Formats: sequence, C-alpha cells, structure tokens
Amino acid sequence: MEIKGIGASPGIAIGKALVLEHKEMVIEKKENVNVEVEVEKLNSAVDISKKELSAVKEKVAKELGEEEAEIFGAHLLVLEDPEFIGEAENKIKNESLNAEYALNEVKDMFVSIFESMDNDYMRERAADVKDVTNRVLRHILGIKIIDLSNLSDEVVLIAHDLTPSDTATMDKKKVLGFLTNIGGRTSHTAIMSRTLEIPAIVGLSDVTDKVKDSDMIVFDGDKGIVIVSPEEDVVAEYQEKKRIFEEDKKALELLKGQPSVTTDKKHVELAGNIGTPNDLEGLINNDAEGVGLYRTEFLYMDSDEFPSEEIQFEAYKKVLEGMKGKPVVIRTLDIGGDKKLSYFEMEEEMNPFLGYRAIRLCLDRTDIFKTQLRALFRASVYGKLRIMFPMISSLEELLAAKAICEEVKSDLKAEGLGYSDDVEIGMMIEIPSAAVISDLLAKHVDFFSIGTNDLIQYTCAVDRMNQKISYLYNQFNPAVLRLIKMVIKNAHAEGKWVGMCGESAGDQMMIPILLGFGLDEFSMSPISILRARRLINSVSEKDMQALSDKVLEFGTAKEIESYMKDFIARR
Ligand code: PEP
Ligand code: MG
Repeated sequence: MEIKGIGASPGIAIGKALVLEHKEMVIEKKENVNVEVEVEKLNSAVDISKKELSAVKEKVAKELGEEEAEIFGAHLLVLEDPEFIGEAENKIKNESLNAEYALNEVKDMFVSIFESMDNDYMRERAADVKDVTNRVLRHILGIKIIDLSNLSDEVVLIAHDLTPSDTATMDKKKVLGFLTNIGGRTSHTAIMSRTLEIPAIVGLSDVTDKVKDSDMIVFDGDKGIVIVSPEEDVVAEYQEKKRIFEEDKKALELLKGQPSVTTDKKHVELAGNIGTPNDLEGLINNDAEGVGLYRTEFLYMDSDEFPSEEIQFEAYKKVLEGMKGKPVVIRTLDIGGDKKLSYFEMEEEMNPFLGYRAIRLCLDRTDIFKTQLRALFRASVYGKLRIMFPMISSLEELLAAKAICEEVKSDLKAEGLGYSDDVEIGMMIEIPSAAVISDLLAKHVDFFSIGTNDLIQYTCAVDRMNQKISYLYNQFNPAVLRLIKMVIKNAHAEGKWVGMCGESAGDQMMIPILLGFGLDEFSMSPISILRARRLINSVSEKDMQALSDKVLEFGTAKEIESYMKDFIARR
C-alpha cells in the first residue's frame, strides 16, 4: 500500500511501525471503589468531552455548515441529559462501581433500548450514544501514552501529531522516522523533525488507521511517499536509496569550514534555526555560521509555569556561549495561534492566528515581556546577541517594544547588572502590513528577518495548518516573492541587513531567487545548511539576479515552481 503525504524531513526510513494512538479500550469491572473519586472521574471526563464537542461543533459549523454540525449537537444533548449521565452516577453510588464500568453498562442499556425501537430516528440516537460515550470513556481511561524516552526497539513512529514534549523526550536513536496524519512543511512537527534530523512525512490524513503496530514501513522523507508492507524488491530499492542518501551526506561533510560564497564572491551568512539549547549540537555539526532563529516559546511550552528570569538567563547564556562569538538571533516569545501554554489560559478566539499572540501579548503583559528581556540583556555579555520581535504589524508596536528594551536596560544599570552595548535589535517580517511599510520600519531596526511561514499564510489568507487549502499555500506565489524583494530593497536602502528564517530560506528551489534578491542571511533547519552551501558555491550572484528577474515575469506560482524545478534538475 502506498500513501502520499508532505515530505517534511529528508532521509530514508526502513523499519517497523509503532502506532501512538491505540483505539481499543479495555473496560474492567472494579467493585468497592471510592465512590467520590469515581464520580469525580466521570464528571470531569464529561466536562472535557462537552468542551471538545462544543469546539468541534463550532468548527464544523463554520467550515462545513450547520447541518453537518448537528451530529455534535446531538452528542452534546446526550451528555446534557440528566437521565443518562445521572444514571451512570447512580450506578457508581449505589453499586460502588468504577466510573468506566458503570458508564459502559448504562451505554449498553440505552443503546439496546434505542436499537429495539421501531423508528429510524431513535435508532440513529443509538449510534450517537455509542459515539459520545466512547469519547467520555477514553477520557476516563486516559489516553494510552507510550513512553517514548524508553523504547526497546528501533521504530517508525506513527501518530496523529507529535507534541513538542513527545519530540523533546523521545529516544532519538530508536526513532527511525515519523509519520503523522496532520501538518504541513512549516508545522511544528515538521520543523522539529528536521531539527532532529529524523526523516518525516506529515499530512498523511489517516496513516494511524492504515498502519498497525509492527507493520513494515519504508518511506522517503523528501518525496513524501510511504509504502506499508513492501515487497522485498521495494525494500531493496529503499536500501539503495538510503545508501545514496548517506553517501551524499558524507560528500557534504567536505563543505564544512568552507565559506558560503557565490562564484562571483558574494558572501552570505548560513545560520540555523533552533528550538532549545540542546539543538546546538546539530547546528554546530552542520557548520552553521550563527543562530538565525532561536524560537524561545519552547522554553515556555516545555514548562509548567512561566520560566523565571534565571532559567531563561541560563538557557540564553548557554546558546550564546555555545556559539563562541558567532551571532545568535533570539526571538522573543511567540505564543498564540497554534502554540499554547498549559499554565496560561487564553480566551477562545474566532481566529487565533489573527488574535492575541506574540508581540501583541507581550506588549499587553509587559511583566512577561520584561522578564524575558532582562534575561536576554543579562545574557548578552556572553556572546553576540541579536534580539528579534515576532509578528510586528506596525511601527507603533516596534517602537513600543524598543522602548521596553530601553526601560529594561536602565533598570539593569540601576541594579548594577551588566549587559552588552552591541545588542542588535531587529524584527520579523511575517505580516504583509510590515512588509509594505518596511521602508519606514527599516529606519528603526538593525535588521529584518523574513518569516515566510507566516508571511505566506497572511499574504494569501491561507491557514498554514489546513490541508484542505494547502494547494494555496505556496512560497512561489508572485505576491509573496514581490514582498520579499521589496523588503530586501527597502532595508538595503537604509543600510540594514536582511535575513530569512522561514522554511523557504533552506529550500533549494528558493535559494537561487533569494540570492538574486540580495538576501544577506539564510537561517534554516541545520540539516539543510551544507546542501545550501553547495548550491550557493555553484552559482553567481549576477546569474541569480537575472534568474529572479525572470521568475518575477511569471504570473503564477505554478510556473515559477516548475521553472525552478527545471533549474535545480539541470544542476
Ligand atoms: C515564520 O513565520 O516564518 C517563522 C519563522 O516563525 P514560526 O514558524 O515560528 O511561526
Ligand atoms: Mg511566524
């Protein structure tokens, strides 16, 4: 069986599947239980299920229409029916039974009553009762969690999605690859798989249903193709592909220590993106010339409370010291959208990607922002720090963020705490309004870093996580390319440098265009650095300028993409 998804991290994986979400539930009968504890278990599982159902209902109504959302409304009604949940509660109390067993019994009773009715409508209610009760039962039982930090065999992980804590704790030596149902090239699982240098394919829709534990899997993380239970000759073919991939990796090693320079001597900086100080190893191994993006939100996401100034200081210091004077761009907190903190309640929003997030949140909660800035400035004496603000959409925001930096510096000075005077202050360009006024913004920053992951999403009004419209999410969209060109030109006019830390910076088909536009710094998943250097070493800036002019003559992303595909294939 062949399944197609989105190639997220290059490399070939050959191994046995481990499916992270198991669906079967084991319901045991336990007697003489602590009744209060069991009632509480039931009620909290019902509450969580209600919340989930309301959210699903709202989403489905919005995306597919009210009628399709009805089913979830019916599920909610089951949970709100005192006769149903009340019956389960009585059973726990009267018979001292465990919550899951009591609920399952009540489910069976209702289902058989509904099913025996001579009425289609009522028979359909039986299916609702089954579905909704299974949801509650799963919560009572807790989702089965496989301890990824302690795997006995090498596996290909199959999951709906992986959380940052899954990827942070997993035993990387045992994980041959990841396959997930959801996600796109710029989703966090995809980015993480590249950082860990583990082959991965995302956006496979229902791979968790199609694959069973221990099924043999082969896949190509570049092409996005998975083969389940392959024939022997296919396994042999993939073994050969793996050999070629490893050989190329060895050839790339020879580029370590070499300059990132075009044939006509244009130097660029090839930096790496990291999520935690632990990612430094991969970055240094791949000969990064700096850190172009340290996504500090992982420090917040992997914690049970806001990380203290001290904890943050240690993390930033570690990265700055680890880079031994090479530049390090640290981005201030970028949560919101799809990135949530378990300990910080955010109001439900209709459009979280357009909502209260990143710099907007930091300018509102200056206590959170100042703690981070204090840690950053204190750490600045240990290396070459560049601070960058995410999601700036206006000059007002940039000036406000800079003013808070000044306040923090004067507080530190008053307290006798040192900081470097050479900290560069920059901002991300990931919102079209910022790109459009980049001439004005450039006067107030030391640098820009273009975040194409979001810039594409906001320019084209296409959710970067939504597979259904992923065909619209295209880095070659002429509108996106024009914005990038304009930003670089505007920054250069003010004598400022421009980097890019979105995934396009490491893309072989984008790099030639970006060189032509005059991009100064490319920051990417460390795994892409040496391949990028090989490409840059093989072209001239002059030719790439001509190429980028040519590319802008096309009216569609498709034409640009196929032009660039040809260009790379000819090399
Ligand atoms: C971007 O938007 O391009 C970016 C680098 O930020 P993130 O992927 O963390 O949103
Ligand atoms: Mg972004």
